[in-house]
Amino acid sequence: MSQTPTALQLFEQIKTGKLSAESLLNETYADIEARDTQIGAFLALTKDLAYETAREVDKRVREGKELPLLAGVPVALKDNINVQGYPTSCASKILEGYISPYDATVVARLKANLIPIVGKTNLDEFAMGSSTENSALQKTHNPWDLERVPGGSSGGSAAAVSAGLVPMSLGSDTGGSVRQPAALCGLYGLKPTYGLVSRYGLVAFGSSLDQISPFARNTADAAALLSVIAGFDNKDSTSVAPKMDGDYLAGITGDIKNLKVGIITELNGEGMQPAVTESFKKAIEVFKNLGASIQTVAIPSINYAVPMYYVIATAEASSNLARFDGVRYGLRVEGEDIGRMYRNTRAEGFGAEVKRRIMLGTFALSAGYYDAYYGKAQKARQLLRNELKETWQKVDVLICPTSPNTAFKIGEKSNDPVAMYLQDIATIPVNLAGIPAISVPCGFDENNLPIGLQIMGPHLSEQRLLQVSRAFEEATGLANLSPKLK
Ligand code: GLN
Repeated sequence: MSQTPTALQLFEQIKTGKLSAESLLNETYADIEARDTQIGAFLALTKDLAYETAREVDKRVREGKELPLLAGVPVALKDNINVQGYPTSCASKILEGYISPYDATVVARLKANLIPIVGKTNLDEFAMGSSTENSALQKTHNPWDLERVPGGSSGGSAAAVSAGLVPMSLGSDTGGSVRQPAALCGLYGLKPTYGLVSRYGLVAFGSSLDQISPFARNTADAAALLSVIAGFDNKDSTSVAPKMDGDYLAGITGDIKNLKVGIITELNGEGMQPAVTESFKKAIEVFKNLGASIQTVAIPSINYAVPMYYVIATAEASSNLARFDGVRYGLRVEGEDIGRMYRNTRAEGFGAEVKRRIMLGTFALSAGYYDAYYGKAQKARQLLRNELKETWQKVDVLICPTSPNTAFKIGEKSNDPVAMYLQDIATIPVNLAGIPAISVPCGFDENNLPIGLQIMGPHLSEQRLLQVSRAFEEATGLANLSPKLK
């Protein structure tokens, strides 16, 4: 099977005039039209914008001008990121007819680097879910097995890259929504430190957790795309000024001898799908062979991370989603009075999972229960942060399986919300603590479904994580994986 070119390989060809950005776009759209019918990754295409950008790239090459990083390389965006003049659906009926009046900061950055945005991808409604089955608009299939889910909530962005329709994409990660689909689709998915990438223009789900995150086919592409989107933004009040100035590609090579790697007692692979446990053990051996030292560390409050998350994330969601009221955005279903109009709009516009979250979150925030639930969860969150802080005195990075299992069948967990919530047991602690983590491919199960390894580090340790990811990638050769589509 011929290798799908990576984003940086395509950029090299565009830069040197061997490949025109416009012809690459023609191929991309032809491919999407031919093959996305079976995958269901895209909700909408943004052709005018993409062609305008690609033509500008080709013009600059003809004029002998320098190109910014990744210029001309197609990217797909999760459909909860605003692109001016195009619909943002969040895969919800409630945003029917809504057109974004402005660009998200990441979109402005992509445009500044002349990166053609080819389309908007499917997601669980408002990014709530782990399989993309909660989309009110369509199903997305895992390219490794079309009967299985791609993971979620950024399932469309993951499937699009995994199928080779685009070389890179953006998703959003609130509790694992980029790392888990990256694991289930054989990709690299990097959740940056909270605040490193601006949230301006990302439709808010859990504001203290959300972070826009890249999907790529190898470490270098993830580093390149992060370099484009990361950086301080005064439109996001939680933005952090990074230690380094945006070049995450520099320094990703080099060995990881003497790296101190921690294995978390609470997430050591036990009780997970046997193939996941096995491949995690093998990953530990890879690190040992690379000269890293391994030690076990306990982070007891991780045991409570899922309940903490489902109080905090739902509380924030109930507040964030209050704005969808039939007046300002999208759908409006009339009623006899304004109260009934709100009720009708929200009853018809939101799907079951979104309603469940709004109810849970409203309950957790209600007078009389606030201290018992929301207040308690915030205290526990602080405990988790403290435990992690202590851990960084002992180790440089932590590793664990990204997901307890490989891609499951469409429909298998959709009637069991708790089973679905437990998908994120390993990814959720990272968002609660605000630290960065990358999911990298580390093997396959007996059905040839990819398995992911999660590497976590302290705040703003992206450079280090990428270096570790790259060393692991080189040792295993597990990069640029392509499913054999039937
Ligand atoms: N699966 C988790 C949830 O449903 C995480 C979602 C996300 O990261 N957006 O909340």
